[in-house]
Amino acid sequence: MKNKKNVKILIMGSGPTGLGAGWRLKELKEKEFLILERNSYPGGLSFTLKDKYGFLWDFGGHVLFSHYKYFDKVYDEVMKHDYYSHVRESYVVYSKGKWVPYPFQYNVHHLKDKKVLYKIADDVINNSYKDIRPSNFREWILHIFGEAIGEIFMFPYNFKVWATPPELMDFKWIGERVATVNNRTLLESIILKKDHVSWGPNNTFRFPKHGGNMELWRRIAQKLKQHIIYKTEIKKVNLKEKYIETNNGRFYYQYLISTMPLDIFFSISNASKGLKQKATRLKHTKVHIIGIGLRQPMPTNLKNKCWFYFPTSNTSIYRATIFSNYSPHNVPDIKKYWSIMTEVSESEYKKIEDNLKQKVVNGLIKLGFIRNKKQIHHITHFSKEYAYPVPTLKRDGVLNILQLYLRKYNIFSRGRFGGWKYEVGNMDHSFMQGVEVVDKILFNRPEITYFSPSYVNSKKFKETQL
Ligand SMILES: Cc1cc2nc3c(=O)[nH]c(=O)nc-3n(C[C@H](O)[C@H](O)[C@H](O)COP(=O)(O)OP(=O)(O)OC[C@H]3O[C@@H](n4cnc5c(N)ncnc54)[C@H](O)[C@@H]3O)c2cc1C
Repeated sequence: MKNKKNVKILIMGSGPTGLGAGWRLKELKEKEFLILERNSYPGGLSFTLKDKYGFLWDFGGHVLFSHYKYFDKVYDEVMKHDYYSHVRESYVVYSKGKWVPYPFQYNVHHLKDKKVLYKIADDVINNSYKDIRPSNFREWILHIFGEAIGEIFMFPYNFKVWATPPELMDFKWIGERVATVNNRTLLESIILKKDHVSWGPNNTFRFPKHGGNMELWRRIAQKLKQHIIYKTEIKKVNLKEKYIETNNGRFYYQYLISTMPLDIFFSISNASKGLKQKATRLKHTKVHIIGIGLRQPMPTNLKNKCWFYFPTSNTSIYRATIFSNYSPHNVPDIKKYWSIMTEVSESEYKKIEDNLKQKVVNGLIKLGFIRNKKQIHHITHFSKEYAYPVPTLKRDGVLNILQLYLRKYNIFSRGRFGGWKYEVGNMDHSFMQGVEVVDKILFNRPEITYFSPSYVNSKKFKETQL
């Protein structure tokens, strides 16, 4: 073996989780740690692509809403004033010009059709599923919203995002991530035509002026640069002897923090066949980004808009972001260009259509987002196999077994796909999973984010330990 190294704490991956761990170690003046990253850049799924025409594209709409003061302090320290603050303007699209403000279930009066509104109200008030204890996501939707909101919004939209039948999904991940509905808000919407648009944790968000969403991670990585080795892919893990093999040699560790997908981690380790098999039960979706660079003028009704949800079958897009509204520097010259970034999901249950790019464009023209094909400057298409960790009914059982097993070998698998918990798989959560796992290793402190997601996502959450 040409290259051998001993490291106290080895971190696999320089996405938000790996960088969170690195940040905390540096803050604690711990010198003996290394971050190994297979890419030549940091950020993981929170990267930003610059295409050959100079347009920037995040990997999907990355809206930063933090649950943590610690994370906010880090953001302020590295970003200083180099960001814009946005107020969410987000809609659910039904047909050309027919938009319901998000969250849909609080603003249904925009549907206007009286028969549909009657059915929605009747279903919520006299919901025959109210007394049934839900055992999966489908039943949870019916239990909370009734059939009408289920059929008009929740079922079609969630299938588009999750690419997984809702009866195979759990609902315990939801916490405060989905706006539930109460009779008063619904009646206020239908009878008084009152809008409730400020619900939820992401109603204001920050976005870097330059460099896309990745700028935050680039700056954090810059501060840790003497600890990061890029273009180093972990290919094998020897659990008992505590080393990993990479294209840059062998690395021995005392503690390993892995942020790569947990199923792949097991497949490249020398764990038993049974455990490797178990890990394949963890399910994920693939996401395609179709970024459309456009010539000005932008339709006036898209000014200041952030993102749109598409529950209907007239396009395979589940979400579109008016990306040049996040920062004018996301396009080479805002006087000449603007941009829409669309997302389409794929899985074993949902295949993507042939000619995806063309179909996405046709859908946007039909729905009034693009005037005609002449407005299009270019289209950039890229995708990632691991995009959403699906909270299936089997997930928690599998995670408990795999994580307990790894603990015996001083291995901590954390982050969006390392931990496989969507409910704590956002950027702030991932960064904090990295921070908290370091405190676990060094001080045996509890990891609140990974093990108590509902608490962290609730209004009751108070950071006490850092
Ligand atoms: C479509 C989409 C939309 C999203 N929207 C939002 C949002 O609105 N708000 C929000 O806060 N978050 C959002 N996220 C989540 C955000 O991207 C994640 O929270 C974050 O990137 C997870 O960080 P991580 O470090 O856990 O994992 P990752 O970002 O996946 O990073 C893991 C790192 O490990 C590296 N790696 C993997 N295997 C190996 C190997 N064998 N050897 C070496 N290195 C390896 C990878 O290259 C990568 O750099 C979104 C994600 C997606 C996919």
